[in-house]
Amino acid sequence: MKTTNSESLFAQAKTLFPGGVNSPVRAFRAVGGTPLFIKRGEGPYLFDADGNRYIDYVLSWGPLIAGHAHPKVVDAITKAASNGTSYGAPSSLEIDLAKSIISFMPNIEMMRFVNSGTEATMSALRLARAFTKRDKIIKFEGCYHGHADLLLVQAGSGVATLGLPDSPGVPSDTVRHTLVANFNDLDSVEALFRKYPDQIAAIMVEPVAGNMGVVPPQYGFLQGLRSITKREGSVLIFDEVMTGFRVHPGGAQTLYQVVPDLTTLGKVIGGGLPVGAYGGKKEIMDLVAPSGSMYQAGTLAGNPLAMSAGIAMLDLIREQKVWERLEKLGAQLEEGIASEAKKAGVSISQTRVGTMFTTFFGDIQPKDWTNIKKADTIIFAKFFRAMLENGVYLAPSQFEAGFLSITHTPEIIEQTIEAARKAFTSL
Ligand SMILES: *Cc1c(COP(=O)(O)O)cnc(C)c1O
Repeated sequence: MKTTNSESLFAQAKTLFPGGVNSPVRAFRAVGGTPLFIKRGEGPYLFDADGNRYIDYVLSWGPLIAGHAHPKVVDAITKAASNGTSYGAPSSLEIDLAKSIISFMPNIEMMRFVNSGTEATMSALRLARAFTKRDKIIKFEGCYHGHADLLLVQAGSGVATLGLPDSPGVPSDTVRHTLVANFNDLDSVEALFRKYPDQIAAIMVEPVAGNMGVVPPQYGFLQGLRSITKREGSVLIFDEVMTGFRVHPGGAQTLYQVVPDLTTLGKVIGGGLPVGAYGGKKEIMDLVAPSGSMYQAGTLAGNPLAMSAGIAMLDLIREQKVWERLEKLGAQLEEGIASEAKKAGVSISQTRVGTMFTTFFGDIQPKDWTNIKKADTIIFAKFFRAMLENGVYLAPSQFEAGFLSITHTPEIIEQTIEAARKAFTSL
């Protein structure tokens, strides 16, 4: 077989980058084959180095809710670039994006822009620790909050165990204070508070888990976290880096009507450029330097390119009818895939909240990581490859979310369901 352009580029890339990629999720390790090298994106489509076109449901892992190269976003970036790419001094664009974000998420009173989701979560936890003068933090098994040392903990056996580092290079001392609970399991959280009274600074949670595939919170879970943290004097942090502007324009906190103390954002707010933010109650944010003593800084933070892209992107999803359309597209895709799987006799569990979705294979309940990890990754890999052959680009792992954009249309969703029909019958 002839070598494709992607294959020869990947061969070169492997000599330059570990595993040939600059972020591990891009490699096709879990599904086999060679990652596609992308030449360009346009609306809902990706075009690879071999001239193939794909309907894209990865959308740069979430940020591109306006699709690829939306003219309004491109225009905003171009205009900003002609005025300089970074000032290292304040500009009114920071105010504009902050006001825009707050108009969607009124619980955020004050915020700080950073350059990635990782920076946002890392800083929010430092802040929670500074605010409470406590060291321990709780995260949930299967939730991902970026690659900061203190968060690289999954702790297989779960409840009430001290975290073990997930990666060599993370000193066990660094994660000594990272506790791990089960998603959707308030008892596992209560157990940790009983074991470490007055020592837990914060709970950080993906309010709709997206990084083990989409796992919605069960009724009462987020409310429970809110009342426990209130009772215990701990800070509740919603990591809405993925869910912000994706499960609802106002994020999970609006959808489920639970007010966290701090929120971390990223992905969509950067319009496809590198941005993160953490924010929340003024009382807590006031502790951040220079107004307070918790130090956190960034050379390129709030840079005009990223701010402009974010402002343009949020403007595009501001109208209620835009969201109603997205919700309809999501429902169309969800129902279409579920019905084709049923017809083909393939056992799946389809989850979706707003514009985030996952098709889990096998007989599982999408409730927590213990259940999720039993999903059939081999069948998923087959499905992934069949979808790719039929022109649909999904995340190359069973444990990831898919995303929609405003440029996807009912016709494109129909084509995707038709591809899924073929894929299911080929399994
Ligand atoms: C993507 C993601 C992060 C990390 O963001 P980066 O910009 O990749 O550093 C953190 N939290 C959640 C929930 C995410 O989905």
